[in-house]
Amino acid sequence: MKKLFCLIMALLIIFIMAGCSETQTTNNSKLSIVAVSFPEYDFARAVAGDLADIKMLIPPAGEVHGYEPTVSDIRAVSTCDLLIYTGGESDTWTEKLIDSANNKNLRALAMVDFAEHICFEDHNHEENHDKFTFDEHIWTSPENAISIVNAIKNTLSEIDAENKKAYEDNSKAYCEKLDKLDKDIKVITENTNKNTLVFGDRFPLAYFANNYKLEYLSAFSGCSEDTEASASTIAMLIDYVKENNIPVVFINELSNTSIAEQIAKETGAEVRTFYSCHKVSKDDFESGKTYIDIMSRNIENLNIALH
Ligand SMILES: [Zn+2]
Repeated sequence: MKKLFCLIMALLIIFIMAGCSETQTTNNSKLSIVAVSFPEYDFARAVAGDLADIKMLIPPAGEVHGYEPTVSDIRAVSTCDLLIYTGGESDTWTEKLIDSANNKNLRALAMVDFAEHICFEDHNHEENHDKFTFDEHIWTSPENAISIVNAIKNTLSEIDAENKKAYEDNSKAYCEKLDKLDKDIKVITENTNKNTLVFGDRFPLAYFANNYKLEYLSAFSGCSEDTEASASTIAMLIDYVKENNIPVVFINELSNTSIAEQIAKETGAEVRTFYSCHKVSKDDFESGKTYIDIMSRNIENLNIALH
């Protein structure tokens, strides 16, 4: 009987040790990063390279505002090392997600913490005092993108000090490309006497506009949930385009073209897409396009719009 007991204990110990060594293998395997939307996914991928598995929660072409996290999102956050999110009004649900995930080792990084905020003009201050007062689309300025990439590099270097050098090299290489993108855009914006962009759409590009000293007129402010612009707003945009010979009316990627088409029809301007990386198309995501690839598409269109 005693022998049998010893045998069972020995087997138990072997099982427990096997279990431990399995846990150890998991700990030594790749870092796991969860990114809420495309910009943070891209920046994390640029810094981590092959050293991490990165999951993007909002699917390609998915609606960014009004997203509701799923059970599998909670599961992903409960086992990941780092969660990166915007930190504005569109993903306030990340706080609940972090609570539900109950992951003691989780590090979380909000992109809005790494650049100076641009505040909304608040016409109804009393009504809106609970709402966010700043624009959250912080990544649209390549200069801010550099700050975010560096923040990710610092955090990954703390979590995984062993690979610090790789994170530094990767982020340096990506920041050099971001810097080139910034300079390429400045070649356009600093060599023209036009500076106003017209959007027959929402305008998630306040940080981009601010960075390049551009003015803008748009059918909706920020990422307003309104879907129909007022007739007077559309009339104002049409008048402005006519009076100032504006050649291009912009829409955002994966957006509704109807207002821009209406303005174009009345004025002879052409409709072109301005990419903010707020959303990524399925094709771009699957073919591994980067923030830089996508933002570079704006250069040609900016050149046409500002000349
Ligand atoms: Zn938005």
